[in-house]
Amino acid sequence: MNVLVINCGSSSLKYQFINSDSEEVLAKGLCERIGIDGSRISYQPKDGDKEETVIPMPDHTVAVRLVIDKLTNPETGVVKSLSDIDAVGHRIVHGGEKFASSVIIDDEVIKAIEECNDLAPLHNPANLIGIDACKKLMPSVPMVAVFDTAFHQTMPPKAYLYGIPYEYYEKYKVRRYGFHGTSHDYVSTEAAKFLGKDRKDLKIIVCHLGNGASITAVDKGRSVDTSMGLTPLDGLIMGTRSGSIDPAIVTFLAGKLNTDADGVMEILNKKSGVLGLSKVSSDFRDLEKAYNEGNELAKITLETYSYHVAKFIGSYVAAMNGVDVIAYTAGVGENTSLVRRMVSEYLTYLGTNVDPEKNKLRGETVILSDPGSKVVTMIVPTNEELAICRETVRLVK
Ligand code: AMP
Repeated sequence: MNVLVINCGSSSLKYQFINSDSEEVLAKGLCERIGIDGSRISYQPKDGDKEETVIPMPDHTVAVRLVIDKLTNPETGVVKSLSDIDAVGHRIVHGGEKFASSVIIDDEVIKAIEECNDLAPLHNPANLIGIDACKKLMPSVPMVAVFDTAFHQTMPPKAYLYGIPYEYYEKYKVRRYGFHGTSHDYVSTEAAKFLGKDRKDLKIIVCHLGNGASITAVDKGRSVDTSMGLTPLDGLIMGTRSGSIDPAIVTFLAGKLNTDADGVMEILNKKSGVLGLSKVSSDFRDLEKAYNEGNELAKITLETYSYHVAKFIGSYVAAMNGVDVIAYTAGVGENTSLVRRMVSEYLTYLGTNVDPEKNKLRGETVILSDPGSKVVTMIVPTNEELAICRETVRLVK
């Protein structure tokens, strides 16, 4: 089957076109600045050169139309016609408590996703626009919704409840949901596969460290706790997000800065994290460079970041009463050896380590700890698009 995987933002649309039999990416690209001046589409076929076209895209329907045109272009396309697109898989950020797994999209599902808009006002409406655009252009092609939150629906109440009046959970569903679920599920599955074990026999801690970052405790194949919460602002220090802070900081800073809660939320989402701490960058490549040049704030930032990662790992060892595998993934987890080394220094008590030579490797599945270590530390590259493709095929077939 040929599956079009779509990840829609409010002004962007990322796509991959995957052959599910060979799991080969036939083409991929990005539509940017949809609905804004200067919109452009990139298109990279598997055996061809990457193209960038500046072209008006007043809305997402036009963007999807252009993606289809690129895929079916007689010269640079990878298929002959629209009928060669067998299914579409959509990444949906928030499924609330309604979705514990992926589903075939129908009118009822669309309504249920709309009902979760409140919980992800920046993401879910954009995801729905993507569904609507595909529906208009490919009405008979089956579509599947794959939720960032679904994998974490197995968490028990003790992990998802906050210490606030229970009525807010009852009335407004205020609780921990967790995100990056597709990645945590995929990486824990691939880690077990690589080790030749059944995921049901393992306690795995997945560290998804990208621009957004979260850690999940996967016990016997089920998410039992995760660091992101009601929103993706909770948990670890991230590229520009603060992660968990004392909630009283919100009103304290609002007073000092003469702003309101929304003003402080903007700071916590966009100006905090390693960017805000280091005053250098949200990108770990820049941070690593500054660290190596002796920048003191970059050093403190990387130490603080790694300390927080190590503390979360420790708390999930407690949650699962043990751990067998620690898996690093996503941009920082796969590439930034300095962070992996710094975190590993806190974890020797577990009977694991990060071998300095193996730690030079990046972007491939590799065991970093010594053979025979009590706990395996490894890198497992994530691939959310492939995971969405697999889910789509599972439901459509
Ligand atoms: P993601 O959100 O998973 O795409 O991760 C993005 C982040 O990963 C970037 O902001 C960088 O900080 C980091 N990153 C990506 N590639 C590299 C690399 N080659 N070396 C170091 N850090 C990287």
